[in-house]
Amino acid sequence: MNKKVIAGIIFTFVFIGSIFLGFNLGKQDAKLVHSSKVVQTNSDKKTQRIGGNGEISTQKNIKKKPWKGSIENIFFHPLISNPEVAFNGDKRSNNFDDWFITVGEFNKILKSIYDKDYILVNIKDVYEEYEQNGQKRMRRKELLIPEGKKPIIMSVDDLSYNDGMRGGTSDKIILDSKGDIATFTKGDNEEEKISKDNEIIPIIEGFIKIHPEFSLNGARPTIALTGYQGILGYSTDLSSKNYESERKEAKKVVDKLKKLGWSFASHSYGHNNTQKMPLDKFKIDTDKWEREVASLIGQTPIYVYPHGFSVKSSDSKLKYLQSKGFKIFYSVGKEPYEQILKDSCGVLADRMAVDGITLRKRRERFMKFYDSKDIIDLSVRPKREVGF
Ligand SMILES: [Zn+2]
Repeated sequence: MNKKVIAGIIFTFVFIGSIFLGFNLGKQDAKLVHSSKVVQTNSDKKTQRIGGNGEISTQKNIKKKPWKGSIENIFFHPLISNPEVAFNGDKRSNNFDDWFITVGEFNKILKSIYDKDYILVNIKDVYEEYEQNGQKRMRRKELLIPEGKKPIIMSVDDLSYNDGMRGGTSDKIILDSKGDIATFTKGDNEEEKISKDNEIIPIIEGFIKIHPEFSLNGARPTIALTGYQGILGYSTDLSSKNYESERKEAKKVVDKLKKLGWSFASHSYGHNNTQKMPLDKFKIDTDKWEREVASLIGQTPIYVYPHGFSVKSSDSKLKYLQSKGFKIFYSVGKEPYEQILKDSCGVLADRMAVDGITLRKRRERFMKFYDSKDIIDLSVRPKREVGF
């Protein structure tokens, strides 16, 4: 045999061998998925600080480095779990198409974000309050990110399942018989469905179980709540007939979410335009939210402007929010904008909207997270224009 033939035989063996090895590694990965949480917890305990620049090494040699750059920030609305109802051609269809995404689209987006090396971080790990000459101010905290990963903050707005969305979405967030977060939906024929795979909260919980490394320090997204027509599918507003019992049920879900690491934000009480509201009405709205929602979820430093209509840092409305303990003010934008106020205690930041409009029209802008052409499910959405 000449050298070429020998080389050919060796190559074939190596090639076939690597295919087998590849399959086996694939299987091993699948097995490791469930035990990796334990592995990580152990290694985290043995974390040691080395060097003076905050570099962290674990026994698994996962280095963490302080993140100095901008932090991506995206948000969603409740998921469309029933596209046939959401897109049935009635007057709500285009509204659903503009602002909502389906369960299938969300699953693909989450996987793409994970594949692109983003790691979910908690807003509380990003900013901290400190005192400067006796005055309270905000600043970035040292955020240690595993090498090769990029931080991302996520939030979900309007998780109230109000009249405008019910039918196309789930009806409410519940605790199932095991005490786990699930959704409850009653169909047209009164059939009842309990699911863990048709809304952002249980989907994220399931995803983190499989990929614990997606969540930095146990981070979860933030849930931004209005107060009118209640929260999380419960009629917790004062005008509700079953005010007491509804609040009791909602509180159980809220407590469980907090235990899992989810945080909450105010999304105002009535979801009105902050810029156009007179100051006295704005104060009433804020106080109502405090009475009916903060009483269930507790104090929060995060305020999410309805429709993204933010006000200037000198505006009396912002001052009023600051007097109520709000420090982080979210609007909507096309990039991860952030302004840390110098003359008062606050951070103004923009989030990018993941919805039907941006899936259709803003493919380029979101390419860093996913390719909307691969995500959007045009087979269920109304026949409307796309920008690609
Ligand atoms: Zn909203």
